[in-house]
Amino acid sequence: MNQLLRTIPKVTEFFEQVEITALQEIYAPNFVTECVREVLEQVRGRILAGEMTELPEMAELCRWVERHARQKAMPSLRRVINGTGVVLHTNLGRSCLSERAVEAVAQVARGYSTLEYDVPSGTRGSRHDHVEKLLCELTGAEAAMVVNNNAAAVMLILTAMGQGGEVITSRGELVEIGGSFRIPDIMGLCGCRLREVGATNKTHLYDYERAIGPETRALLKVHTSNYRIVGFSETLPVREIVELGRKYDLPVIEDLGSGSLVDLLPLGIHDEPTVLQSLQAGVDVVSFSGDKLLGGPQAGIILGRKDLIAKLKKHQLARAIRVDKMTLAGLQATLASYRDQTAYQEIPTLSMLAVGKEHLQARAAQLCRLLQDRGIRAEVIGQSSPVGGGSVPTQLLPGYAVVVDPGKGTVNDLEEALRCRELPIVGRINQEQYLLDVRTLFDEDLEYIAASVEEVLA
Ligand SMILES: *Cc1c(COP(=O)(O)O)cnc(C)c1O
Repeated sequence: MNQLLRTIPKVTEFFEQVEITALQEIYAPNFVTECVREVLEQVRGRILAGEMTELPEMAELCRWVERHARQKAMPSLRRVINGTGVVLHTNLGRSCLSERAVEAVAQVARGYSTLEYDVPSGTRGSRHDHVEKLLCELTGAEAAMVVNNNAAAVMLILTAMGQGGEVITSRGELVEIGGSFRIPDIMGLCGCRLREVGATNKTHLYDYERAIGPETRALLKVHTSNYRIVGFSETLPVREIVELGRKYDLPVIEDLGSGSLVDLLPLGIHDEPTVLQSLQAGVDVVSFSGDKLLGGPQAGIILGRKDLIAKLKKHQLARAIRVDKMTLAGLQATLASYRDQTAYQEIPTLSMLAVGKEHLQARAAQLCRLLQDRGIRAEVIGQSSPVGGGSVPTQLLPGYAVVVDPGKGTVNDLEEALRCRELPIVGRINQEQYLLDVRTLFDEDLEYIAASVEEVLA
């Protein structure tokens, strides 16, 4: 073993090889040195573990360095193929942008833009203007602003409107979103006191009313987007909370979470309130995410009364959580699809949720055929998937998946091999079967998937 370890070439020897000097044309010299070191470290480890009893030739080692460099240089943030069927997969980046939005982002990213520039007057403009008018036209809101995400939106609203006082919320709505964003803790952070009222399953209007006092700054309703309380329970219609707010001259805030601009009932999705319903009920300030059911880039959208939104825009925190030109461009283009009534065709989130069963079945059959043509055993099965992104938690959308036979290997081997490809394919294992749910697959990826499975199984 010691003999073998002594024969490992030195780092400097690699730099006498043409393959390695060629690599230095592509990558920084330090990076290449690092790659050589890491490959040699692996070789040493394998010798010590008794896995390697003979040293490969120099040319082979150089190939390992090349391969290692390619892998190491691959961006860690890159596209994946989502075969889970979960449309709003938070770990996979939630919404896919429409082509229109992608184009708009690319345009402003590449060059200078009208971000804070008013073209007709040639003077300074406001970045809020790019989406405010559209949002107001689409929803009938008096005013709008956009911040980094909905968590930031909630923080800004609570800080600007509740600091130093109490905000009343139902015990049934003390949501945790994940990533430790919890309504009770956020209140503390924003400098307001949470006044929780009612019980977990029921809160009555009189619970709110009794809690109102000189310290009360606002009434907060939180959409329990990622859970539901069923059974002996009742949620108070927001309209009633609004009436109470009016009576005591207190603003009503609603954190809608997913915030759909369209009614999802025709898609078979129940009890997901729309932004319009909230505004029509008279809520003073409502906030929701840009990349959940809306189908745009990550953002927090705030709509509501002009005087209150003006206060939020002027707040010091607003600057710290403002959005950049790419977000605004992507959001403007996404909203334009709603205005042009092409949202269901253009916005992937909506089309993936709305796609018909026949269409899904046809896509599954096509993938299955592509696999079978390559001698791979596969079959189409009915499969339901959740919407994801902490939205619509109690409902599954019926669809189809393709079960891929792992051949001589195990289901786990197949899952790992497909996941570790340069363009990773993320599938699902269910009851010892490897599944690709076709709801979240793009038609243009089916060939690649079939070819990848063939390569992996070979
Ligand atoms: C998702 C969600 C949030 C957080 O939104 P992000 O855009 O992910 O920051 C806040 N509140 C509710 C009710 C949510 O569902």
